[in-house]
This record gives sequence, C-alpha cells and structure tokens, in this order.
Amino acid sequence: MKLHEYQSKRIFAQYGIPIPKGQVANTPEEARQVAADLGRRVVVKSQVLVGGRGKAGGVKVANNPDEAEQVASKILGMNIKGLTVRKVLVDEAADIQQEIYLGVVIDRAARRVTMVSSAAGGMEIEEVARTAPDKIIKVPINPFLGLRDYQARQIAFGLGLRGDYIRDFTIIAHGLYKVFLDTDASLAEINPLVVTGEGKLLAVDGKIVTDDNGSFRHQDLAAMRDVDEETRSEAEARSFGLNYIQLDGQIGCMVNGAGLAMTTMDIVKLFGGSPANFLDIGGGASADKVAAALRIILADPNVKALLFNIFGGITRCDEVARGIVAALEQVPTEVPMVVRLVGTNEEEGKAILASAQRKVQTASTLVEAAQKAVAAAKGEAYVPLPPPPLVVYTPRVHEIATPPSSKPAARKTIPPRPAQKAAKKATKPAKKAARPAKKAR
Ligand code: GDP
Ligand code: MN
Repeated sequence: MKLHEYQSKRIFAQYGIPIPKGQVANTPEEARQVAADLGRRVVVKSQVLVGGRGKAGGVKVANNPDEAEQVASKILGMNIKGLTVRKVLVDEAADIQQEIYLGVVIDRAARRVTMVSSAAGGMEIEEVARTAPDKIIKVPINPFLGLRDYQARQIAFGLGLRGDYIRDFTIIAHGLYKVFLDTDASLAEINPLVVTGEGKLLAVDGKIVTDDNGSFRHQDLAAMRDVDEETRSEAEARSFGLNYIQLDGQIGCMVNGAGLAMTTMDIVKLFGGSPANFLDIGGGASADKVAAALRIILADPNVKALLFNIFGGITRCDEVARGIVAALEQVPTEVPMVVRLVGTNEEEGKAILASAQRKVQTASTLVEAAQKAVAAAKGEAYVPLPPPPLVVYTPRVHEIATPPSSKPAARKTIPPRPAQKAAKKATKPAKKAARPAKKAR
C-alpha cells in the first residue's frame, strides 16, 4: 500500500524527522485558511499517489492566503498521470539551498535492506541512477546490527555535509530506517531532504510503500488506505480475490498459481516478449472469476496478445474454458489469444474452446505457447524456435551449504604445558589434606 505524502511525513515526524508545518485541505477555502493560520509563504501540494507531481504542475508556491486559494483551486481536480487530485497539502514553504535524496529499500541482489542517498535530490532517483550512477551512495544494512552510526556518517560525508549537519543527518537516517522497519515497508523515502537557508535539514517530500503481506500487523495503517487512488482494475481484482499486478508489457497473462505465473513471465521474456501483468487466478477458480480476470486484463490498452497458461490440478480446465467463453461474450475483443490447457478435464476444456465463436490458438507446451503469444503480440506469424541457451546459475562459494556428511573441523585447543599439569596434581592432594585439618581446629 502506498501512503500519501502527508501521511508519510506525519509518520516521519513521530520518528524525529523534521517536517514543515502544514495541514491538508479539501477545498480552496480550506487551503486559504491553512495558509492564513501558517501566516507565511506556503507551498500547495497535490496529494496523489504518483511521483513527479512537481513537473506535472501539482506543486506550487503561494505568497499569501489569496494566492493559496487560487493555486489550490487550480490543483484540486487536476489530473496527474491518470489520478484526480482530491486533497492538497498546504505546508510552510522552505527556503531550499540544496536537495538531497534519502531512501531505504530492499536490495534483493545484496539480500539487504539498503540505504540509498544522493546529493542530486529532487529528481527521481531512477533518473539519477540512469544518468549519473556515481552520484548514488548505497549502504547495505546488516539486519542484526541495524544501521550503524558510522554508516550514517559515511553517507553524510559522501553527500558533502559537514559540521552540525552530520549529527542532524544521522538522526534522520536512523529515524527513516526505523520507520521502514516499523511499518513493514518496501520503501521509505525522503525526496527531497533539503538544506534550508536557516541551516536546517527538512523532509520536504515523503513516501512510504508498505508491504501488503504485513498489513495484518498494522491496523493503524489500514485506515490510511485511499481507495479513491486504487485503479479500477486493482479494486476489481481485489474484490474477486485475484492476485493481480499491472506491468507495462504487451502480453496479458492469465495463469493459475503464483509459481507458474512467474515462470510464464520468465518464458515470455526469454522469447523476447514482455508481460503486461502478473495474474494468479488461484486454485479451483470458477468461471466468473476467470471472466473477471479476463475483463481486467483486457481493460489495459497496452495488451496486444493474451496468454492463458492453465495447469489443471484442482482447477478444472473445462471450468476455465467456460470462463473464457463467458468473458468473451461480455467483452468482445480482437486481441489474439493463445491457450495452453493441461491437466484435469483438459479434453473437455479444449472442446469448449474449439466450439467457441472466437478463434483461439492452442499450444501444448509452455515454450510453444510463449512463442505463439510473442509472435501474436508483434503481429508476426508463429515460427517455432529452439529455446535460447539457458544461463546456468553458479552459486557463489558462501552459498554452497556444507554437505551434512562432512565432519565439523576439530576444535583447536592449546593443551596445558606439562609443568602446569604436574603442578596441578601436586596441589590437589595437598588442599584435600588441608581441609580436615581446618575443621578439626
Ligand atoms: P514530487 O515532484 O511529486 O516529488 O513532489 P515534491 O514534493 O518533491 O516537490 C517537487 C519539487 O518542488 C521539489 O523538488 C522542490 O524543488 C519543490 N518544492 C517542494 N516544496 C517546496 C518548498 O517548500 N519550497 C520551495 N521553494 N520549493 C519546494
Ligand atoms: Mn519528491
């Protein structure tokens, strides 16, 4: 779940990260009131769950309450990257001297939560990564030790901060890492973290993306979910219990099982295609669930071909075929379709598809299905290809587990010197002998 800027910054403030004073407004009049209460230059900021609001005209400075009202009336109702602005945040405007990027993410390759920072803040970090990767500082964090002070200082120095800024930055870095952990986030980001004219560090923009797998632990955050901001497809997928993630490719994939869905996406990529989505319809999907899935995929205008990869175990192929036929009656489409149905009731499923009005291509292997879908998406004829050579993954040395048969190395201990041994032997009987003597006294 993505949190709004104002929600993220409120959480930041609880962790000692300095944020500007401000309030959310739903109308231009409210914006005017907030600006009047703040009594100084303000910045009016659209609250939509996308980046790049500044570039899109969704962030504007206002010198007085009148201007704040005017600017808010322009921004409210604005469409930014497909989302309608319903709220604005009115913050005290900062006197910005420098913009820094600071984020906490999961680096899957390093298998670490990683703190990422750059002196080239303000613009999107993906852009910096592309154009000036040397300007990015990355610090992997040991999960047992957490972020260490020296690591935070190392980043601060790398950013060119000196003096008191280093201490302030360290507090912010620790705060952000703690926010990341405590909210079960996949991203916690300040962009920009600014150096102000008064010589302070201030989190001017904030973003938190939480991991939905952890949402059961965060009833407090659940109330922050903004359903207005969910796309129709996401909302529909959620109501049908479908696991759906939209991507930006051309091949719509409908698959049962998360593992099979991942494999399908990989194979599509292997043959030069690109998946338009991840979609797991789950086990034992009914015809109307399949129909909903198909409607969701077809609502994406990028989809140029559809690939069904169904392995019938609990899921019955005939039920899936009925769902496809039902959906095609509701949502007629010209998008070419490739279907691979294998397993339970495969023959009935194939027969249902064959008798349908709409022509679909069938495939018996995943390789064939993927190649057909890739060709169809490009508007080309299908020509069977051998699969490209696989890159064999070689584990690095530390990843190879010790075979269970091998004995643990013998512990090296230093034997006592002969002289000590002799001395011990000599003292023991003497002590024993001394005790009865004491008691006797
Ligand atoms: P984003 O474009 O969605 O990331 O929105 P941001 O909140 O990061 O704002 C975009 C840009 O607007 C920032 O990088 C700043 O340059 C500018 N900006 C934001 N807040 C202020 C402010 O208080 N004062 C000034 N002068 N500029 C601001
Ligand atoms: Mn920003």
